[in-house]
Amino acid sequence: MERIHNFSAGPAVLPLEVLEQARDELLDWQGCGMSVMEMSHRGKEFMGIIARCETDLRELMGIPANYKVLFLQGGATLQFAQIPLNLLAGRSADYLVTGSWSKKAYKEAQRVGTVRCAGSTENDKFTRWFNAGEIDPDPNAAYLHVCTNETIHGVEVHDSAILPDGVPLVADMSSHILSRPIDVTRYALIYAGAQKNIGPAGLTIVIVRADLLGRAAPGIPTLLDYAVQAEHGSMLNTPPTYGIYMAGLVFQWLKRLGGLAAIEKINVEKAGLIYNAIAASTLYRNPVEPACRSRMNIPFTLTKPGLDETFIAEAKKRGIVQIKGHSSVGGMRASIYNALPLDSVQALVTFMRDFENTHG
Ligand code: PMP
Repeated sequence: MERIHNFSAGPAVLPLEVLEQARDELLDWQGCGMSVMEMSHRGKEFMGIIARCETDLRELMGIPANYKVLFLQGGATLQFAQIPLNLLAGRSADYLVTGSWSKKAYKEAQRVGTVRCAGSTENDKFTRWFNAGEIDPDPNAAYLHVCTNETIHGVEVHDSAILPDGVPLVADMSSHILSRPIDVTRYALIYAGAQKNIGPAGLTIVIVRADLLGRAAPGIPTLLDYAVQAEHGSMLNTPPTYGIYMAGLVFQWLKRLGGLAAIEKINVEKAGLIYNAIAASTLYRNPVEPACRSRMNIPFTLTKPGLDETFIAEAKKRGIVQIKGHSSVGGMRASIYNALPLDSVQALVTFMRDFENTHG
C-alpha cells in the first residue's frame, strides 16, 4: 500500500498507527463483538472510551481540574456564535482580526451581540502579528478573542507574541492545538475543530474555565449552553462517538511519542525544512514575518508567473497532494500537522528544489 503525501489543511492526514488500530478494531472493539460505531453512547464500553479520551487530553495539555472539557459538534464555526452566546452576559467582547478565521469569528459574533475590533492586521494582508501598542483592549470586555494559528495566512502566535492580559482570553486553536505545549491557564477558553490535529471531522473540543459557565444568554438552545453540556458530561444528546474514539487513539499515539514536548521538536524540524527551502530559493516566497510564521500551515507563492498549475501537476506525480493555497490568497500552502510524516516533508522539499532547477 502506498500512502500519499497529504498536505491537506483539513480534514487532514491521520497517524498511520491510529488508522491501523481503528482498522483492527473496526468490527470488534476489544472483544465486545461490535464496532465503536454500533455502541450505545451510554453503555459502559463507550463511557470508558470517552473518559479515557478526556483523561489523556488533560494529561497531554496539562488541563487543570478547574477547566471543563466538552466534546461538541458544529465545528469551530458554531463556536464563533456559541462563545458570545455563553460568555457575553450582556457585555461587549474584543476581537483581534489577524486572518480569515478570526475575521469570520468576529463577523459571526456581531450577529449575536456587541463586539468590537481591538486590533487588525488586515492592512498588511494578514502577514504579521501585532507590535507593542497596536492592540487597543477594552479593560471591561467580557473576553478577548484570538485565533492563535491562522490556517489560511500561516500566522501563528508563538510564546513571544504580544497578547494583552487582564481580560479572559478566548482562543481558536483549531489548526495548531496539540502541536506544542501551551500554558492552558493563560486562557479562559480554548476551542478547536478536530479535523486537523485531533481526529476526523465532526467533533469540536472546548476547554473552558468552570467559573465562566452559567452566564449563557437566556433562551439559547439547551444544546448550546456550555453549563448544561458540562453538567451532562457532553452527553446531553448523542455525541459524535466515533470521532471521540478516534481522537482518543490520536491522544494515545501522542502520549506514546512522548507528549507535546516531543511532537514540538518534530514540528520544529519539519517546518524548518520547508522554511529553509523557501529561504534558499529565488522561486518561492513566504509573505509572513519570520517571528510569527506558522509551524502547521506554510503558505508560499511562486515568484515566476504562470507556473502554479504545473507545480501542482508535477507535485502530484510525486505523490504530493493538497498543496494548492486557499483561493483567497492563491499560491501554495503546505499544511504539515502532527500526523504528517517527516518523509512527506522531505519529499516536498526535494520536489521544490527539483522543480526550481527545471523551471526556475
Ligand atoms: N478556525 C480555524 C483556525 C480553522 O482553520 C477552521 C477550519 N479550517 C475553522 C475555524 C472552521 O472550522 P470548522 O470547519 O470546523 O467549522
